[in-house]
Amino acid sequence: MKNLEKELAKKGFISEAVKKIALFEGLEEEEIAKKVGEGKIIILKHKNKIVGIGEGLRTKINVNIGTSPEVCNINLEIKKLEVAERYGTDTVMDLSIDGDIDKIRREIIKRSNVPVGTVPIYQVGIEAMREKGGIIKMEEDKIFETIEKHAKDGVSFITVHCGVNLKAIDRLRKNPRKSLVVSRGGAFLISWMITNEKENPLYKNFDRLVEIAKKYDLVLSLGDGLRPGGLIDSTDISQIEELLTLGELTKYAWENNVQIIIEGPGHIPINEIEANVLLEKKICNGAPFYVLGPIVSDIAPGYDHITSAIGGAIAAWKGADFLCYVTPSEHLSLPGIEEVKEGVISAKIAAHVGDIGKGIKKEIERDYLMDIFRTKRDWEKEKEIAIDKEKFEKLRNKFPLKNKDVCTMCGEYCAIKMVEKYLRTKIIC
Ligand code: SF4
Repeated sequence: MKNLEKELAKKGFISEAVKKIALFEGLEEEEIAKKVGEGKIIILKHKNKIVGIGEGLRTKINVNIGTSPEVCNINLEIKKLEVAERYGTDTVMDLSIDGDIDKIRREIIKRSNVPVGTVPIYQVGIEAMREKGGIIKMEEDKIFETIEKHAKDGVSFITVHCGVNLKAIDRLRKNPRKSLVVSRGGAFLISWMITNEKENPLYKNFDRLVEIAKKYDLVLSLGDGLRPGGLIDSTDISQIEELLTLGELTKYAWENNVQIIIEGPGHIPINEIEANVLLEKKICNGAPFYVLGPIVSDIAPGYDHITSAIGGAIAAWKGADFLCYVTPSEHLSLPGIEEVKEGVISAKIAAHVGDIGKGIKKEIERDYLMDIFRTKRDWEKEKEIAIDKEKFEKLRNKFPLKNKDVCTMCGEYCAIKMVEKYLRTKIIC
């Protein structure tokens, strides 16, 4: 049995992980430990990397990679992992659903320098399909055995759709949706439950899941299997029904010192984001909120890294703690390397913008520094602060520079330079 971070924190012990988080975030160790004990901050670990997610901390981002039946290339997924790390992701999730799933996951865990998450129900469903001809033939024990296998391999967190229970399906039936269900794990479980007329094993045997999580200090990310698939159904009764269940399960997990993240939509109109964050924080007693985007409009395929960055920035500002990136490929295809890069950068921007709104000092200071360097036209230092240094360099040199002190936008009519000359003032640093 591993030392449980939540248990240690509850007892007032300051662990090495808490110390590292405090140093990185620029906060007091006691404050971090208190919130870990309360469940408001969770700790993910992988190799030397410690990631704190939750209240008062910088917003973190996750990148999804993984094979599909259409594109199954482990080397491509490893390259995506490298790109994701290079551009600053905090975690990565392997969502592979084709090829040798065990091998792919183990390779990603081996190569990754950031905590790795998985969705074990995918593997259970795929193997049931391969071995028995249908996802609806998943075996209950296999679900828990697969979860334990992932934990043993070194996965730091898993998505488990525990809130998709029979009551929630009943709500879904009584309150039909236009956009149905878009969670892959949710769809696997709903199909299984309806066909077998049985309760979701992850809900019914949540205690068994908690025991596994305790054994490995595995963080449970309670998935939103009933998140609406479009703005047309946003914040509907089935979504809220599931959230209520997740709130209850969170309490049980916390009593057992298991760390919890709550996953949220998805597709939310801009005016409902704040309410979604508030509901999650109230119902789940301040557990960290992990939003999938959220995408704020459904009419921009090819640009969903932008729709999700808008949603992610607002969600983070209003209190969401963890953003799942969305790439330009969303709703269209498996992302390639370039789309992964665009997705990571967009999510990083969203998290940073949200952090300015949250009042995270270190993030605000980055902008202030950029303002000073921009006014000084110190292009090298500007580049250092820029989220995407390569793009900075590329666009700065897009046209031949006649005057290196300014840029090719205004050239000799550079407003900053002109005012600097006539105002005869010094830039205050
Ligand atoms: S040339 Fe124009 S755009 Fe470029 S730095 Fe000066 S004021 Fe800004």
